[in-house]
Amino acid sequence: MISDHDSFLARGKRQKLIDGLRTKGIKDESVLEAMNRVPRHVFMDNAFLHHAYQDKAFPISAGQTISQPYTVAVQTELLNVKKHDKILEIGTGSGYQAAILAEMGARVYTIERQKELYNKAQKTLAKLGYNAHFFYGDGYKGKPQYGPYDAIIITAAISEIPGELLEQLKPGGCLVAPVGGSHSQVMTRICKSKEGKFEETRHGLFIFVPMLGGTVNGK
Ligand code: SAH
Repeated sequence: MISDHDSFLARGKRQKLIDGLRTKGIKDESVLEAMNRVPRHVFMDNAFLHHAYQDKAFPISAGQTISQPYTVAVQTELLNVKKHDKILEIGTGSGYQAAILAEMGARVYTIERQKELYNKAQKTLAKLGYNAHFFYGDGYKGKPQYGPYDAIIITAAISEIPGELLEQLKPGGCLVAPVGGSHSQVMTRICKSKEGKFEETRHGLFIFVPMLGGTVNGK
């Protein structure tokens, strides 16, 4: 079924984007399938199909960006998403990453510090029929009252991973985050073993907007 917010033209362009992601090394078919189903152009202000289906980051409101599709694919692949997983996202932004996780059958909890984006992302996901739990606030402390989580994804650059977030991971779960300074970050995955031990692996350089403390009460 093709939703009211999608089109054959968009689907064609999206398929090409997905083929490109496969060429760039994305292997998890469940990730590629979800990205093929979610209409990325609906998350952007100027829904130019041409921009939406290029493998590029793009400005959204409040000086923030929707992550590049390749980046979304890498992070989602590293999360090892399974149906019904409870996943915490820090940095809702446009809501695109949250929609991909929802499309994969995850139960999504997502935090955004900018009121404007928090409001807008909820509307976009509702429009497309995806469910997620949205929170307005500073994500540094996570959401322990809804945890523990099967996976945690941070979608803003962070200088180090707060211990409080690692505490909210279930044994067997992983946290994926771009760790580093403002110029570039290393995509880092920290997994908690069944015994509660942490193991860290690194997955290449990326560039994200910075994670900032506090909240912005815009519109
Ligand atoms: N996942 C988004 C892209 C996020 S861009 C998408 O799919 O579109 C990073 C987002 O993190 C921005 O919206 C920014 O406002 C938010 N952010 C930055 N610091 C934060 C914090 N401490 N808590 C919650 N959100 C934060």
